[in-house]
Amino acid sequence: MGNTLEKIKVEHLTYRYPFTERNVLEDITFTINQGECVGIIGRNGSGKSTLCYALSGLVPSFFKGKYSGTVYIDGIDIRHIPPEERVKKVGIIFQNPFSQISGAKMSVYEEVAFGLENIGIEKEEMVKRIEEVLKKFNLWDKKDENPFELSGGQLQRLAIASMLALKPEILILDEPTSQLDPQGTNEVYETISKLREDGMTIVIVDHKYEKLVEYVDKIIFLHDGKIVAYDKPEKIFSLPEIEEYKIGEPYQTMICKKYGLKNKESLYPVRFLEAVEVLRG
Ligand code: ADP
Repeated sequence: MGNTLEKIKVEHLTYRYPFTERNVLEDITFTINQGECVGIIGRNGSGKSTLCYALSGLVPSFFKGKYSGTVYIDGIDIRHIPPEERVKKVGIIFQNPFSQISGAKMSVYEEVAFGLENIGIEKEEMVKRIEEVLKKFNLWDKKDENPFELSGGQLQRLAIASMLALKPEILILDEPTSQLDPQGTNEVYETISKLREDGMTIVIVDHKYEKLVEYVDKIIFLHDGKIVAYDKPEKIFSLPEIEEYKIGEPYQTMICKKYGLKNKESLYPVRFLEAVEVLRG
């Protein structure tokens, strides 16, 4: 505690995809301290994924387009961090775990090894790291299996394990549970919870608010590529601006309980279930 090292700092970031006419991110400025866990919410198309790409450097190294402003990682402009160094700083996990798995012929063990070989980790260290992450994520007994035979939750855990074997300092998760059933979702959030305890800096996009609020320190509320608010979850969900998202009764009760608020009147009167619908577009 008390550590306020600025891990991620975004200053006036504006971005437009190639061959398009509209900025997807508009003058984005915020800071995430080391060890913080931050959620990003907003409707479909509000720019959440693009912001994740910018925080991991895929924007503008992979997605070119029109880019201004700066994303700093540990005070260094992300564009100045070479790709092989960047993967050791920032790991990104996408919605669909299949998109992260390299090859159908590989075993779970080889899947983790693949990423490590790519960044030139020595054999001895590699063996150590693979065993460590597979054990940590309860996948050690699956090490000889084909990844495509795992359940959705296990596969997403493997994607996270493979990423963490590279020992990144920041983990970005873009809707990591959207393809998962409740059991898979719980598995992923338990993993996130462990990583938090280890002091990792985490950014997570998820529509499952009821899960998100339990795990994050703060929430970035994006709308049309702009930050509407960046605050603690209980503040975000009592903002007048969120009224159009209509947060509902069950959610209010949950928030009140979680944050020890006496009555629901202390929250802005909004309806949750409708909000989920609106946010899902
Ligand atoms: P969210 O994650 O909040 O749904 P996205 O970041 O995926 O939002 O998308 C923001 C906007 O950028 C959308 O209007 C989307 O159509 C557009 N967009 C996303 N990817 C691309 C791309 N590769 N090229 C052009 N436009 C894109």
